[in-house]
Amino acid sequence: MAAQLIDGKATALEIRAEIAQRVEELRGRGIVPGLAVILVGEDPASQIYVRNKGIACEKAGMRSLTLRLPAETTQAELEDRIRELNADSGIHGILVQLPLPGHLDERRALGVIDPKKDVDGFHPINAGRLLAGEKCAVPCTPRGVMELLRRTGLELQGKEAVVIGRSNIVGKPMALLLLQAGCTVTVCHSKTRDLAAHTRRADILVAAVGRAGFVTADMVKEGAAVIDVGINRVDGKVVGDVAFDEVWEKAGFITPVPGGVGPMTIAMLLKNTLEAAGE
Ligand code: NDP
Repeated sequence: MAAQLIDGKATALEIRAEIAQRVEELRGRGIVPGLAVILVGEDPASQIYVRNKGIACEKAGMRSLTLRLPAETTQAELEDRIRELNADSGIHGILVQLPLPGHLDERRALGVIDPKKDVDGFHPINAGRLLAGEKCAVPCTPRGVMELLRRTGLELQGKEAVVIGRSNIVGKPMALLLLQAGCTVTVCHSKTRDLAAHTRRADILVAAVGRAGFVTADMVKEGAAVIDVGINRVDGKVVGDVAFDEVWEKAGFITPVPGGVGPMTIAMLLKNTLEAAGE
């Protein structure tokens, strides 16, 4: 039997409508949630992401500010701009679009963001709080995945979850959230031996690798929930990390690419901004 499709696009639209309603209430109390996005350089994919974030913000009734800095911006200049935004009471969320040009130190820049305004959840303080299970800004993509999983109605407690990928942005926070939800979590990466032996045990399989069609049907347990975080461009088309056409036949639930996790990431960015504004 074919898998049930997890429609991230529709879910994200629902969440964005809920957020827009709450923003309206906040505006009635004189608070306009504001998100500032800093883009350094001309990376074409980043330009699209930043534009989409700005549009989403405005559609939700939030204030959107995009700072476009030249590729040759120095570390000190970047950090000064972040500090200015930290001090701006009309800005509740600050996001530095990654990747930064090679001469800039990403971790140092992220560490300058006021943790209360860190809507990406990448500041070491928020990463630490997530590890400790404390309230914090949760990175948008893993938060979006959890929201999708919850809405399937699947019981997560006691399930075997396997995450492929161990980045600070997706893999690691994803594993922590699944652990908090009561899953038994395995994190796989490029040094993992016999990857398929791990993935075949997974009731929940999250692929965050960055390789088109990496997860094939033989790596998937019958009936598993397969979440595809990957965004890969192949011959001008966007595809995920999962070989959708074959895995679809075997999985119980599956997210498509596009239209799965991607739209949820933006919805969760808006949610984090709303929460930073005092929700
Ligand atoms: P990274 O490149 O930072 O991490 C990729 C991970 O995959 C690494 O941990 C790496 O292992 C692992 N990996 C690579 N090759 C293999 C392999 N052969 N076997 C097992 N593991 C492997 O990427 P990100 O985490 O930033 O992103 C992952 C994907 O998700 C990308 O396609 C990205 O575009 C997409 N993405 C999508 C978002 C969305 O909104 N949908 C948001 C963010 C990212 P190791 O650590 O050992 O190198």
